[in-house]
Amino acid sequence: MTTSSTLPGLAGDGVSLDFAKLEKRFRVPAGKPLRLADHDPGWAGNGDIPEKERKEEARGLLATHVEALSQMQELLWASDTWSVLVIFQAMDAAGKDGAIKHVMSGVNPQGVEVTSFKQPSAEELDHTFLWRCMKRVPSRGQIGIFNRSYYEDVLVVRVHQHLLEAQRVPDVKPGRKLWESRYDDIVAFERHLARNGTAIVKFFLNVSREEQKRRFLSRIDEPSKHWKFSPSDVAERQHWDDYMNAYEEAISATSTDHAPWYVVPADKKWVSRAVVSAVLTETIRGLGLTWPKISAEQRQQIEEARRHLEAE
Ligand code: AMP
Ligand code: MG
Repeated sequence: MTTSSTLPGLAGDGVSLDFAKLEKRFRVPAGKPLRLADHDPGWAGNGDIPEKERKEEARGLLATHVEALSQMQELLWASDTWSVLVIFQAMDAAGKDGAIKHVMSGVNPQGVEVTSFKQPSAEELDHTFLWRCMKRVPSRGQIGIFNRSYYEDVLVVRVHQHLLEAQRVPDVKPGRKLWESRYDDIVAFERHLARNGTAIVKFFLNVSREEQKRRFLSRIDEPSKHWKFSPSDVAERQHWDDYMNAYEEAISATSTDHAPWYVVPADKKWVSRAVVSAVLTETIRGLGLTWPKISAEQRQQIEEARRHLEAE
């Protein structure tokens, strides 16, 4: 298995960067308020190195991690103890779908489940906001990917508070107390999962407002991309600052050691995919999984099976 996870050229300092540094750069430390102003969505490594070279390196890194992930997923499955939950949150057109598609491209489809959470159904609204996600958390040996998640209930619902009415929670009013109680519930839920063998990693794909505009326009300009375009996405842009405030607060309150957030620069897809693949690979590597031990008795049985087959 490939174990190297250096990010040469993307280091920002012109030397090979080990994962510890890469991870530190984008990880939101527990208990420390996030300031999105400190995170450049257009970050793309050391500008002294030609972009073509950085891009090539990032693509090579992605390929290395895709290969590593495929093997790790097999090990995850074989050791049958841990599961991995990967959460993606972002503004529209930030590249969630592309990141999922590219980063998971080498993984056995039987070992991974992707769930996209949309506007809640009537049945979902009859339950608490965690319910629909609880039903989709990965079982041991599996990787579960959430394309949006219960975080929508402190993001879109916070920006559009009228959505709360449909949830019909008794005596609930939008306000600081409500959002804080939801952060508490989320932290507790994720702690419960982590304590019981679910490794959690959360990505905020940080796209700039300008880049989102460019991507919307390219969807409009290309008829083959029209299916991706929804006029309501453009209306949502008007609430950009409210969303950024909601993201800052939610991420600050819920980035924990057991379920860290990563703020991933997303204006360049080759950067975001390389970073996501690196963080995910290291997260699984950090579990220290080992292949199941074969007992002397099992080995004997295997040898016996060989003799039977050869004697046929
Ligand atoms: P998309 O991912 O582009 O297909 O859009 C899904 C839409 O569902 C987004 O606009 C989300 O904001 C919205 N959505 C997801 N979860 C919720 C929720 N809990 N309440 C309201 N809207 C939601
Ligand atoms: Mg959309």
